[in-house]
Amino acid sequence: MSMNEQEMLAMYEDAGALLNGHFILSSGRHSARYLQSALVLMDINNATALATELISKVNADEIDMVVSPAIGGLVIGQEVARLMNKPYIFTERKEGEMQLRRGFTIPDGTKLLVVEDVITTGGSVCECMAVVREHGGEPVKVLAVVDRAPGADGRFDVPYATAIELDVETYAADDCPLCKEGVLEAIKPGSRTVK
Ligand SMILES: [Zn+2]
Repeated sequence: MSMNEQEMLAMYEDAGALLNGHFILSSGRHSARYLQSALVLMDINNATALATELISKVNADEIDMVVSPAIGGLVIGQEVARLMNKPYIFTERKEGEMQLRRGFTIPDGTKLLVVEDVITTGGSVCECMAVVREHGGEPVKVLAVVDRAPGADGRFDVPYATAIELDVETYAADDCPLCKEGVLEAIKPGSRTVK
């Protein structure tokens, strides 16, 4: 069963995961809205529904393995891999640098699907793909649940698809109107309680 974008956004609203306020994104930019996918993915049925939607955008025959950049991509990436019955690995930052750890290996020429929860600049995904290539793998497609900057071209050098497009303005930290208003302290939703 396929969901449309409105149904997926409703899923976020129902989970209290469509947040309004003043947020510092992982890219360092600021924004007044935030989708907290972790709250949606608490319900494994939501994870299955979103993963099913993502899988409909890829040819499973082209994929040998699924990879995600930790932490954001872990839950949805695992569910995508489970439904596709493919091996699943993840990259993670250590002292700021994206790495492949935990004994994961990528056989030469392995074709990988890269799965992320929310994409803005795509920085984590690009770092993940660089690590995959260093280890002999070939990223063939990027899938993300939410694209916070739809229309931003040239973020990835492989095909890319998303389930939800949320066109929200983001601001450089030193040029953020919310900071200038000084009404709300900016918070990092990834690292603090926001509800
Ligand atoms: Zn700000």
